Amino acid sequence: MRSVLVVGLALWGGLGIISTGFVQLQSSLIAEIIQQVDEERLREHICQLQSREGGEYCNEDGSRWSCDASAIDRATNYARQYLESLGLKMRLVPYSLDCRQGPSYNLEAELPGTESAKLVLITAHLDSIILGIRPSYPAPGADDNASGSAAVLEAARVLSKYRFKHTIRFVLFTGEEQRMIGSSAYASELARKNVSILGVFNVDMIGYDSDNNGFFEIWVGIRSEEVFKGSWRLAELITKTIEAHKLKLVPEVLNDPGRGGDQALFWRWGYAAVMVIEDSEYGATDDFNPGYHTPLDVLRFLNLAYMKRMAQAVIGAAAQLAEPVP
Ligand SMILES: [Zn+2]
Repeated sequence: MRSVLVVGLALWGGLGIISTGFVQLQSSLIAEIIQQVDEERLREHICQLQSREGGEYCNEDGSRWSCDASAIDRATNYARQYLESLGLKMRLVPYSLDCRQGPSYNLEAELPGTESAKLVLITAHLDSIILGIRPSYPAPGADDNASGSAAVLEAARVLSKYRFKHTIRFVLFTGEEQRMIGSSAYASELARKNVSILGVFNVDMIGYDSDNNGFFEIWVGIRSEEVFKGSWRLAELITKTIEAHKLKLVPEVLNDPGRGGDQALFWRWGYAAVMVIEDSEYGATDDFNPGYHTPLDVLRFLNLAYMKRMAQAVIGAAAQLAEPVP
């Protein structure tokens, strides 16, 4: 069993990091932004991503396994076309994966800031995997992580109607299920170029809430004091957004130096990053998706109203960090 530390003031309490002055909610503009998050659009993205051919039937026979070029490329193309339709500047960022010939790709779309190139990242992994069965078997991955991918696509649609002081990037990683090779390549490239990042909101599994109690987890990094302060600040932005807009979600803030997920690769380089995830087996309660990494990780078991609120919490927090220009 892995040890989990609940972050409390006792841990870094002497640092005086909890500055309520930081969170200046631009409440009405943020309310306007998050009201536009659309449950039906989230649903449609998951349908497209969980089925092999896409189309209108919401089939459950798809896969986005990064080692199968045709499977992951179909998903990448779907997301790419959607982001292009929003008029965003796109980049396919190549890296290499042992199990696939030729390059693999992360996908990035950018909304340039009016004043600054400092980045706010909203990220998710697009790929899926099936375990315990032959790997070519369907891996619909509706929750893991078509849900987070859908939230990134919806964030792009809603936020691209506004202007922000800082630059927002919407990033879909692949290779997450191969030990986060895609995000590792991506984060180290940013670090090498000394890119300044205000915060990374990584969204990974936000669709399952069988008891409808709204519980979820925010994972912060503790690799260094700087990482902890920065990621705590992001967690605080999310929790304040939930309170201010009455989103009926109950966050638990957790940390574990060994916690996986694409945000961990940003912690490694000293960046502020959080992972937002449904109520997993870690922490005080457990309502984790039993279909995880099986063919039963499909849309019909997800709680879309919960998922919409999760997307709203992240999009609202990211918008505040990027500072909307009225
Ligand atoms: Zn995942």
